[in-house]
Amino acid sequence: MSKVETMRGPVDSANLGNVLVHEHVILMDLEYVENYRLDFDEATVVDRAAQELNALKAAGIDTIIDLTVLGLGRHIKRLAKVAEKTDLNIIVATGVYTFKDVPKPFEYVGPGLMIDRPDPMAELFIQDITVGIAGTGIKAGELKCAIDEPGLTHGVERVMRNIAAAYRATGTPISVHTAAHHQMGLVAQQVFAEEGVDLRDVIIGHCGDTDDLDYLMKLADQGSMLGMDRFGINVILSLEKRVGTIIELIKRGYIDRITLSHDCSSWMDMFPSGKTPMPEHSYLHISQQVIPALREAGLSQGQIDQMFVHNPRRHFEDAASRHAAR
Ligand SMILES: [Zn+2]
Repeated sequence: MSKVETMRGPVDSANLGNVLVHEHVILMDLEYVENYRLDFDEATVVDRAAQELNALKAAGIDTIIDLTVLGLGRHIKRLAKVAEKTDLNIIVATGVYTFKDVPKPFEYVGPGLMIDRPDPMAELFIQDITVGIAGTGIKAGELKCAIDEPGLTHGVERVMRNIAAAYRATGTPISVHTAAHHQMGLVAQQVFAEEGVDLRDVIIGHCGDTDDLDYLMKLADQGSMLGMDRFGINVILSLEKRVGTIIELIKRGYIDRITLSHDCSSWMDMFPSGKTPMPEHSYLHISQQVIPALREAGLSQGQIDQMFVHNPRRHFEDAASRHAAR
């Protein structure tokens, strides 16, 4: 057992319950919303988010990992207002979400740059994990970065190597957004391996966007967990194919490498209403449609628990115990 940081403070890993490993609550470009979304009313959005998370808790999910880091509109004080109104555990992440460049405030500061000093990025990630985020004392429990179609750009690589540095310093596990159709999970694994990351401590995000079993088995054979984490985004891959891929992976012996989630949010600035136009892309989709479909495909309650309870628990416990042993 180990302690996992949540918005309510540390929780025993044994008490995380059913976990959705890749979600968001409020997703936005903070500057855009400040200037152009005068319809954004914090109190309304906070109340609705809390209601939705309470409904998720009532549906049997106990914990979400909110992977909203820099680049996605992280606002920990606003999120804390949501957390106050729900019994669901929220684990927050630190890191940077970019497909190309580092955020401007990092551009000139770091090794070999105009202000030549150790990279401030790793320092800030470690501070978020050990001291707390933005003066709140709320600590990050997960590290997050991204690699998408543009591949390993200079900025993406710098973020990834700093994520690895924070992992080495703290033993916090890693979740990485990847572009499955460009097989970017393999590139992320290569960089992490170079940086001394145990690939078993990494969730390769958005694996569920593909049914390419060879690619998924390559990632899993190197030890990483697969994020089958975009349930409800049926425009990329249908529910039937997403479920079918999981069933096939289980047949081939990979049940201990599978995690499930939606990658959805309660409010996002990408749509005029603040809500996704995809009706099934909601927090309740897994509880109401996906789990029944997994049962129908023949999975036992024990197998379902393995993916929602035991695998996420191991993600935190194993990273912590490996870190303690290093
Ligand atoms: Zn996401």
